[in-house]
Amino acid sequence: MKQKSEAELAYERNVLEWKKKYNWVQPPFDPSRVIAVKKCGMRGCGAKTKLHRHHRGHEYLLARIMPDVYAIRYLSFHPDDIVIVCQKHHSDLHRLYMPYIYDLPDAPTHAELEDLRMVLRNVCDTYLRGGKKKKHDKTSKKQHRSRTNLRP
Ligand SMILES: [Zn+2]
Ligand SMILES: [Zn+2]
Repeated sequence: MKQKSEAELAYERNVLEWKKKYNWVQPPFDPSRVIAVKKCGMRGCGAKTKLHRHHRGHEYLLARIMPDVYAIRYLSFHPDDIVIVCQKHHSDLHRLYMPYIYDLPDAPTHAELEDLRMVLRNVCDTYLRGGKKKKHDKTSKKQHRSRTNLRP
């Protein structure tokens, strides 16, 4: 077993604190078991190992900022909040989230957090739909199609 990093330990502390504070009880169905039969949701990836459950709206961060509103939601791994991704695409997603998170004001309101949540969900879905295919490939195909449509 590798030693846990500071970040992992802090994560576990936070989750434990929320579970205690909000009297959270594990639901009878453990969604984490589903992972074994899933694959990365990134189009064109399909990796089946090192899979992570990613919260599309980064509810973990939101729960850190406003636990009364978001902690229970985070802990419950709501199916609509979750996508399965491999390690690489998980880090990619969090990298893509960064500029939006930096844009948050010091003491964001609930409305501002909800806005962020929606934006992040959208960033996530758009990215996962994109797949490995390069953008210009699609464009050239489209251009080709529209050219053939130009018949009189
Ligand atoms: Zn994530
Ligand atoms: Zn992947």
